[in-house]
Amino acid sequence: MIRYEDLEEKVLSYNSNADVELLRKAYIFSAREHKGQVRKSGEPYLTHPLEVANILAEMKLDVASVSVGLLHDVVEDTLTDLTTIREFFGDGVAHLVGGVTKISKIEFSSREEQQAENFRKLLLAMVDDIRVILVKLADRLHNIRTLGHLSPEKQRRIARETLDIYAPIALRLGMSRIRGELEDLSYSYLDPEGYKNLLSDIEARKKDSENLIKSIVGVLEKVLDEQGIQARIESRIKRVYSVAQKMKRQKIGLNQVYDFFAIRILVDSVRDCYSVLGIVNNQWNPVPGRIKDFIAMPRNNMYQSLHTTVVGEDGQPFEIQIRTHEMHRVAEEGIAAHWKYKEGKLTEGKDDKRFLWLRHLLEWQREVKDPHQFLSNLKIDLYPDEVYIFTPKGEVFTLPRGATSLDFAYYVHTEVGHKCVGAKVNRRIVPLKYILNNGEIVEILTSSDAKPSRDWLKIVKTSRARSAIRRWLNQRQKEEALELGRKLLDKAFRKHKRTLKKYEEKLSDITGQLGVSSAEEVIAGIGYGKFSAKQVVELVVPELAQAKEAGGSESKLGSMVRRVLRRSDSPIQVKGHDDLLVYRARCCNPIRGEEVVGYITVGRGISVHSVNCSNLENLLVNPDRRVEVRWTDEDGDGARYPVRLQIETEDRTGVLADITTTVSSIKTNILDARARVIDGHYGLVELTVEVGDTKQLDKIVNCIKKIGGVRDVGRAKPSARKSRR
Ligand code: MN
Repeated sequence: MIRYEDLEEKVLSYNSNADVELLRKAYIFSAREHKGQVRKSGEPYLTHPLEVANILAEMKLDVASVSVGLLHDVVEDTLTDLTTIREFFGDGVAHLVGGVTKISKIEFSSREEQQAENFRKLLLAMVDDIRVILVKLADRLHNIRTLGHLSPEKQRRIARETLDIYAPIALRLGMSRIRGELEDLSYSYLDPEGYKNLLSDIEARKKDSENLIKSIVGVLEKVLDEQGIQARIESRIKRVYSVAQKMKRQKIGLNQVYDFFAIRILVDSVRDCYSVLGIVNNQWNPVPGRIKDFIAMPRNNMYQSLHTTVVGEDGQPFEIQIRTHEMHRVAEEGIAAHWKYKEGKLTEGKDDKRFLWLRHLLEWQREVKDPHQFLSNLKIDLYPDEVYIFTPKGEVFTLPRGATSLDFAYYVHTEVGHKCVGAKVNRRIVPLKYILNNGEIVEILTSSDAKPSRDWLKIVKTSRARSAIRRWLNQRQKEEALELGRKLLDKAFRKHKRTLKKYEEKLSDITGQLGVSSAEEVIAGIGYGKFSAKQVVELVVPELAQAKEAGGSESKLGSMVRRVLRRSDSPIQVKGHDDLLVYRARCCNPIRGEEVVGYITVGRGISVHSVNCSNLENLLVNPDRRVEVRWTDEDGDGARYPVRLQIETEDRTGVLADITTTVSSIKTNILDARARVIDGHYGLVELTVEVGDTKQLDKIVNCIKKIGGVRDVGRAKPSARKSRR
């Protein structure tokens, strides 16, 4: 077990100004809080925070991070709370400990790949200080190194989580050394057999390669020395999990993994890198297309190096990687290599250039000076358009920013969406339209009586929810139309002492005449009001058409339209059809002259809306049901429509009288007039007038506008009454 003194010495070795007071205080605090606790292995619990701090010190992180390593479990596992940490260690350390604790509380439940990706994003987006992630990675590394004492089931769970979540985060942050260890250890627990076999194969091939490697290194040492280039030459064997992945991905055997071993040449300057590349490619034959310049074009996790694959004397290709010592440190330690703090500030000056990779990573143009600014940008820029939402069980869902609780319900499951009546966010009840925020725990409330409504289309923001609702509504409408159409058609047959049942098969004979493709569509068409039941009966049994001319019996729908319009000749025509039922929608109450649109309703004919009607957008989600309509040409067919006007006036006596006098003088009937004073400031007059067309309405509005004391005149918005579909 590492001793505190070793840790302190390690920190001082790379940062002689380190605040060891803070470190010592953290150690004493942690030792006191964890006193008496033991790990599964029987060791004192304190070994764990000490080892985690040691891993952080190996990354050469600042004293605050190493101290947080010592303190990272006290809030989670002892009676201490964050307030106490804050009192003892200040806001900075408390904030980091709080961040690590928060991550520990998240439960990882699903194993789907998508879920894992969500989780990685979540972790990166949720923390506002990357050091929180670094401490968490160190914590996980030590835990997985000491997994042996747990039950196999727990081992597998932690290993899976590490492979799905933490190793990819390490990769994204460029920390390949830690990533490699996390992956290999996880793999050894997840597939012990496969790991063991591959490991022994690798050992065998490594042994076979030893002489080759030795001779290559010997040649390199000689030629570089001749050229006067100072270099450190190493060889590396590909890690077990990487090899396994490559073999699986490319469906190849171990012998075909061409970069099984690689030679690394570390030099002092970028210039030397390119010189060495030249020397190497001169010494052996390079494989065309395998020279890669990651110095000029760093990978987006900031990895820089030159790679070349050459063919050795025995015809075996091998990879050579050339980089500076500094690039090597970045390649191994990633973001941690850059994360040197000096009293809370990033070291400036000559280090600035190294932050170029961050800008690459973030496609972020501004100058990076303040680490906090950088971190907050990291948080925002990585995934600006998404929010991460939890279920109470800890599953994570990614939704677009602005999504509502109803959207979330549809993400959980379509049926959950259809039955949704509300939600609980962090245990508080919220309405369907509640806009979700990052990290909220959302529980959907359902009821077996609930069902989607057209208004829901206004609430949802995601196309997934929208199309689920539309599908439901269309399906529902079709069912309704079929049911109604069947009833109406049966009734029409019965009028002639026949039944639909008897003639149902014949419906498919008339589909061509009606322009539909199935008998079902004939029936639905009646329900939708596209054709009348009578029309269909007469097509199926032509001799009945004669009866009509003789008897002139009236259809049920015909009387319905009379009821709606109180007149038989509609002022509105549907283009291409003379026989359709048409009525003015009550929600917008269009008047002659206004631009209008027709909408085929279920069983009620065609409702005509003003193009400005606020209901229209929702109604026309199904464009098939839109029809062109126009006002009949006959002028002055005598139809009069009530129109409600709202007039804003100064608070002056006599205004109402002036208005009514003016309106009467232009030969307009006033059906209702009322006036009130709003907030003691201005008057509001509501006037219902009877008009024939928009021309007349415009005239009325203009005349009222000219009256002294009138500020504004407008058509009243339809009342809250629901529109008829
Ligand atoms: Mn821990």
